[in-house]
Amino acid sequence: MNTIRMQNPIAEMDGDEMTRVLWQMIKDQLLTPFVELNTEYYDLGLQNRDATDDAVTVEAAAAVKRLHVGVKCATITPNTKRMEEYHLKRMYRSPNGTIRDILDGTTFRAPILVSGIEPAVKSWKKPITIARHSSADQYSAAEYRVPGPGTAELSFTGEDGQVWKKEICRFTGSGVLQGIYNRDESIRNFARACFAYALTTGQDLWFSAKDTICKAYDGTFRDIMAETYEENRAAFDKAGLHYFYTLIDDAVARAMRSEGGFVWALKNYDGDVMSDMVSSAFGSLAMMTSVLCTPDGNFEYEAAHGTITRHYYRYLQGEQPSSNPVATIFAWAGALGKRGELDGNTALTGFAERLKNAALDTIRGGVMTGDLAALRGGDEKGVSSADYLAAVRARLE
Ligand code: NAP
Ligand code: MG
Repeated sequence: MNTIRMQNPIAEMDGDEMTRVLWQMIKDQLLTPFVELNTEYYDLGLQNRDATDDAVTVEAAAAVKRLHVGVKCATITPNTKRMEEYHLKRMYRSPNGTIRDILDGTTFRAPILVSGIEPAVKSWKKPITIARHSSADQYSAAEYRVPGPGTAELSFTGEDGQVWKKEICRFTGSGVLQGIYNRDESIRNFARACFAYALTTGQDLWFSAKDTICKAYDGTFRDIMAETYEENRAAFDKAGLHYFYTLIDDAVARAMRSEGGFVWALKNYDGDVMSDMVSSAFGSLAMMTSVLCTPDGNFEYEAAHGTITRHYYRYLQGEQPSSNPVATIFAWAGALGKRGELDGNTALTGFAERLKNAALDTIRGGVMTGDLAALRGGDEKGVSSADYLAAVRARLE
C-alpha cells in the first residue's frame, strides 16, 4: 500500500500509563500503515521528565511553537503519592500548565458525538466547545477574612506614584474580602485564540459575562472581545460565521435550548463550571477532545481525559483493559488534519477525516469499548482496546 507523505513534521509528545500504551497501539495499527509519520518525538513520560529535570516539557512546547502543530498524550501531574511511586527528584508542575504558559494559549474542549450515545440535553445535535480563559480572576486572588469592624478600600499605586482609591465596604462586624485582577494583554490573547479557533473549525463564537454588574471588569472583557471581532470581521463574514455577546445567564438559558454547534468563550470561573456541566451532559470524558490554540495560530491536540491509571494497573496484571482510545485517535486526526491544511496536503487531511469516520463507524457498527457499551445500556459488552483498534483498522483498510 502507498503511504501518505508528510512534508513538515509535527511535535509528538508521548505520555504515561494506559494512554502511553494506547498511544503506541494507535501508531502501530492506525497511523504507520497509512502515513509516513513525520514527527519530532518528545517523551513527556514522568520518568523522562524527571531524568531531564522537566526540560523535555519546555523543549516540546518550543517545538509546537516552531512547527505550529503538536499532538500530546495524557501525562501524570505528580502529587505526593506519585513522588513516592516514581522516586521523583521534585514535584514537577502539570505539563499542560507549563506548555500553556509558554505558548500563552487557550484550551478548547469539544465533545465527540456519535449516534447511540445521546446528550442529556435533547436539543443538542452538535458539539458545544468550551473556551475557558484560564488566567487570573479568582484563581490568583488575594483574599482574607476580615476580623471585625473597619473600612476596606481598593487601592492601586501607579509607577508614577499616583494612588487610586475606592471604598469597598465599611464593615460593622467580621466578614470576607477578595481582590481579583486580569490583564488586557491576557484577555486579548484569549480573544484572538477564540476567534482563530472559531474560524479554523467553522463555528459561531459566543462570549458571555456579567457586564451589567461588573461594569469595568466584565465590561473590559466584552470590549476587548468586540475589538477582536472587528479584527476578524471580514474573515467571519466570508465564512458566514457570527460573533455573539450576551449576559452569562442569558447564554446559559440559550445554550440549553440550542442545537449546539458553537464555541462558547467564558471567563475563568464560568469556564471551569460550565465545562464540567457541558462535558458531563454530552456523555463521556472518554469522548472529549481538547485543543490548545495560541493567539499566533499554533495548535496542540490531546484527549481531555487523564492517563486512566486504574486501567493501567489492571493492564500491568496481564489484563486486556477496555479503555476507550477515541479521544486520543481524534487528537492524532486533529493534528494530522491541521498539518495537512497548513501544508496544502490534501492526502493527509483526507486521511485525518477517514480516521475519524472509521473510529465512529466502528462504534455505530456495534464494536466499542466498555464505557460506551455501558452508556448505551444494551446487552452488548465492550471489547478490549486492542480489539476495538483492530476493527477500526479493518475499516480504514
Ligand atoms: P482519568 O485518567 O481521566 O480517569 C478517571 C476515570 O475515568 C477512569 O478510571 C475511567 O473510569 C474513566 N476514564 C477516563 N478516560 C477513559 C477512557 N479513555 N476510557 C475508559 N474510561 C476512561 O483521571 P484520573 O484517574 O483522575 O487521573 C489519572 C492521571 O491522569 C493522574 O495522574 C492525572 O494527573 C492525570 N491527568 C492528566 C491529564 C492530561 O494529561 N491532560 C488530564 C487529567 C488527568 P473507570 O475506572 O470507572 O473505568
Ligand atoms: Mg471544573
